[in-house]
This record gives sequence, C-alpha cells and structure tokens, in this order.
Amino acid sequence: MKKNPQYGISTNAVHAGEIRYNEYGSITTPIVQTSTFIFKNTTEIRQLAQGAKNRFEYGRYGHPTQGAAERKLAALEGAEDAVLFSSGMSALTTALFALLNAGDHIILTDDAYRRTLDFCKTRLPKFNITCSIVKMGDYAAIKKAIRKNTRIFLSESPTNPYLNIMDLERLRAIFKGTDIIVISDSTFATPFNQRPLEWGVHLVVHSATKYLGGHNDLLAGVVLGNKKLTDPIRDYLKTTGGVIDPHSSYLLIRGLKTFELRMLRHNENGLAVARFLESHPAVRRAYYPGLASHPHHAIASAQMNGFGGVVTFEVKDDIRYVHAFLSKLKIINIGPSLGGAESLITHPASISYYDHSRAERKKLGIKDGLIRLAAGIENADDIIADLQNAFPSTR
Ligand SMILES: *Cc1c(COP(=O)(O)O)cnc(C)c1O
Repeated sequence: MKKNPQYGISTNAVHAGEIRYNEYGSITTPIVQTSTFIFKNTTEIRQLAQGAKNRFEYGRYGHPTQGAAERKLAALEGAEDAVLFSSGMSALTTALFALLNAGDHIILTDDAYRRTLDFCKTRLPKFNITCSIVKMGDYAAIKKAIRKNTRIFLSESPTNPYLNIMDLERLRAIFKGTDIIVISDSTFATPFNQRPLEWGVHLVVHSATKYLGGHNDLLAGVVLGNKKLTDPIRDYLKTTGGVIDPHSSYLLIRGLKTFELRMLRHNENGLAVARFLESHPAVRRAYYPGLASHPHHAIASAQMNGFGGVVTFEVKDDIRYVHAFLSKLKIINIGPSLGGAESLITHPASISYYDHSRAERKKLGIKDGLIRLAAGIENADDIIADLQNAFPSTR
C-alpha cells in the first residue's frame, strides 16, 4: 500500500492532491462548476481517447474538484486510489454492485449501519446474492459463515452505537489465502485513528459526511484501496451516477485542511465526556473504546491512535426521562449524524428506530434509555457542563 511517509498528516491534509500552481494561480482549488467539458478541436478529442491527464468530458464521469479531493483522501488513508460519491450509502451500494455477481454470497457483521444491513438483507437477494449476518466479535462464526461462493466480507469498526472494535489481526488470519474481498466501513475511525489497509483490509469505505467533511455541511462517501478493485467501482459509478458535485468536493477539501486538528480535539473531547458519563450516578453504563471498562479496550488500544468523539450511554430505561434530559441541553444539538464541529446527541429509540415497536427495539438491543453523543470540537468543559445541567438534580 502506498504510504506518504515523507509528510505528516496535516501537511497531507493541507496540500496533498491539489495542483500547486493551477492556471489561475489561486491557492485554493477552484470549484469547476460545469456539467460538460468542451473540446477546442479534434486533437483534444483524440487526447481524451488516449487517456490524457486532466482532460474531462462530462460531469458524471469525473471533474477536477472531485479529483483533488480524491487524491487528498488517498494520501491520508495511504491508499493507491480513492473514488468519491455523493453520499456514504452511494459509495457502499455502488461498490457492492460493482464487485458482486448473481450467485455470490456476502458476510456482514450484525451491528452494521442500519441501511447497510437493509441493503444486504432485502435488496441484494433480488439479484440472487445471499447474505449471512454474523455476530460482531464472534470470529469462529465468521470462519463458519465462509462458503465456496463468498465474495465479500463487510464490517465496520468502531460500530454504531456500541463502538465495538474489529480485531484486524484476527480478521487478516481468517481471510489469508482466500480470494474474499474484505471491506471495512471506517467512518467512525477515520484514517487519523485507524488505517485498516495496513492490516490487510482490501477496501475502506467512509461516509465522508462525518469526520472527513467535519462541518455538518455536506454529504459524501469514499471508497479507497488498490486500483485493481477501485477501477471497476469507478466505472460502475459512471452508470449509477452517484457522483459528488463540484461544490461538495470543494467543501470536503476545505474541511480536510483541519482534519488532524479536529480529530485530536474529537478524541480528547470523546475521552473527557466518556469519563464524566461513566462516573455520573444517573448513567447506568457508558460505552467508549477508550474506557478500560469497554469490552474491546485492549484491541482498540493496540490498533488505534485514538477513539473518536462518539460516546454511547444508558440512563433510566424510560423515553420520557430521556426526552426531559434532551430538552434541557443548551449547547449540544439533538439530531442524527456525527463528526462535525457541533456536538450532536441522538436517541436511537425515538429517532432512528421510531418505526419499530418497543419489543422489536429490544430484540435489536436498542434500549429506551440508550443515548449516543457525538462530541464536537467545542471546549470539553462546556459539553460536560451542558450534560451535567441536563441530568435531573440528585439533591
Ligand atoms: C452515516 C454513515 C453511513 C452512511 O453515510 P451517508 O453519507 O449518510 O450516506 C454509512 N456508514 C456509517 C458507519 C455511517 O455512520
């Protein structure tokens, strides 16, 4: 895997992928807001056919602002290539469509992103692709699930909402010598905290909407890995059409400039908030891979640089109690998503799973007292005080 050892993370975040002296001399990469690219003459048409660099044809097939963002992401992840999409789900579904054929089998871990699970369980079977779901952390079950027609193993780390961590060394041992493509959705980790390609994972997927964009102002997704695997995915994108637009590409480049600074703060805030919550009498349990009490703390410490901004915790198992708590927050906003400058808090039982009955939620392990906090980059003391003031007074 191509690394960029000559430069540090922030130097790559600021400079990698961008053309040093573009034709306007602008220090920022221009937003090339166009749907089509015209030819001066027939010589230029021939150059396109011969694969000339920086020669574009039509927006859905790629554009310069997208290219700069892709090169920057590839440098940060240490990947040969990156393919950007209009959302994380577009990245995941296009990658799976490009790599799977009718009759294939895919293995997925059970606490994957809800829409990813839905896609594998209910959409892929329409194309005669079967899916096995194994319990996260059960490595014997992964091994047992492998069949002759298994083409892909897909998992996440850390997972949502319990922040379970995949042991990448054990994963490598299981798939060594097979031709199964191992894909990791690394959205919650980011290349700052974990670089799965260095542990034998073949493709990394991110919802760039989260930490990579970092400002709650764009939707994007990316697939990273060797060109042998990303080329067919890029080609498929030209058909499925989930291309990232020029303006979002620019926002992503802009957001990435501060990638390392933001991640350092997210990690710091996540740990501070997790420690506060774990010690609070109203909190029954806090889940954060950086806490010694987390079941995967040892693996996380061995393979990660930090643990991110997301902390999940349980309070009294009562929706009214949780709603009273959420209503008192003054800084932290209520809403889905994570990874932006602003702290966000979500209550899975009433936001993500509002269409499930209490019994169904219980079966999925979503308790009514479960809360997920995505710490932003505000000052930790203020986030903690906001939480402290929202808990019912114990005196
Ligand atoms: C948000 C998210 C997605 C989906 O990404 P979008 O950009 O919202 O389409 C996929 N996987 C994980 C782990 C996510 O958090």
